[in-house]
Amino acid sequence: GSTIGIIGGGQLGRMLAIAAARLGYRTVILEPQADCPAAQVANEVITAAYDDHDALERLAELSDVITYEFENVPVDSAELLSETKSVFPPAEALKVSQDRVTEKRFLNKLGIQTAQWRVVENEVELEAALLAFGGKGILKTRRFGYDGKGQAKFSGVPGETAKAGFAAVGNAPSILEALVDFTHEISVIAARDEAGNIRVYDIAENVHKDGILASSTVPVSVSSTMAGLAADAARKLLEGLNYVGVLGMEFFALANGTLLANEFAPRVHNSGHWTEAACAVSQFEQHIRAITGLPLGDTRRHSDCVMENLIGDDIARVPEILKESGAVVHLYGKAEARPGRKMGHVTRITKRL
Ligand code: ATP
Ligand code: MG
Ligand code: MG
Repeated sequence: GSTIGIIGGGQLGRMLAIAAARLGYRTVILEPQADCPAAQVANEVITAAYDDHDALERLAELSDVITYEFENVPVDSAELLSETKSVFPPAEALKVSQDRVTEKRFLNKLGIQTAQWRVVENEVELEAALLAFGGKGILKTRRFGYDGKGQAKFSGVPGETAKAGFAAVGNAPSILEALVDFTHEISVIAARDEAGNIRVYDIAENVHKDGILASSTVPVSVSSTMAGLAADAARKLLEGLNYVGVLGMEFFALANGTLLANEFAPRVHNSGHWTEAACAVSQFEQHIRAITGLPLGDTRRHSDCVMENLIGDDIARVPEILKESGAVVHLYGKAEARPGRKMGHVTRITKRL
């Protein structure tokens, strides 16, 4: 059979490797950390840095198609691999999503509304941006932020200074976003194949704790109009990027009916883990189908459900959770349960449709 190369060996790489194996593919992972979650299920692991040219050459040799499981893959690596093999999603999607400024510009150019934002290169620019946003906002580093890391919140209360805020994000090139007073956070998981076919899963409603996704619930409690707007925006983005594969896109829903895009991830997404328990074809299988030229699968939901992330010590609850009926448990094989570390997730089926 053919072989799929996956850059990144975290839990998303692991779940992609499982889905690939179920469809008869071999997988090769490129990951610097030898004992990564994906190493337990992949056929082969190349233990090297993501920009190691020898390792990239070897990955290209071994693979028929190459994908990735995180958005901070060096763009140079994706472009180098693209010279000899198909890389999906395209390197352009990586490039756009790696920098919150290019990401927001791209979304806005497509007519997809976001929170107001300003580029912040230094303390003085932060001061000015804060003034423009009434002292409120969320400062985020342009690059490498995830799980709410690299962010500082300004609530407009006395004592907050641009100096301290900028220092809190390591004085790195950043963006200030207006503070959005949302009623709900929702997300879309959607797929596009090379022929341009698009499939969209049902919208999920997400709750974050300390910047980390805690749960995703389907169906959402927002209006179907709002859900439709989110799906439309995802379609527009997939087309705008000439995208191939699965993409996750996050939104803020406001009380007045406005929908604002927050960010997107050019990969399978944590808020789409529920699909493995409530759809015939999971987001992971869908991604493998899209990048290998197989027909896209059915995205219909056969059950209502709630996905809960198992973070850090939550892992201790697994023996109890396993006694629940209708609970689909998925663990990532990580040995050490550090605080804030995603150890697994459980999707509880709440109603069969
Ligand atoms: P992820 O792990 O999803 O990639 P991230 O580190 O890229 O997270 P964001 O998604 O930008 O961070 O923000 C994390 C959370 O912080 C959001 O889901 C939301 O709850 C809150 N948040 C982010 N931006 C804003 C904003 N402009 N206004 C209000 N809340 C926000
Ligand atoms: Mg993010
Ligand atoms: Mg996010």
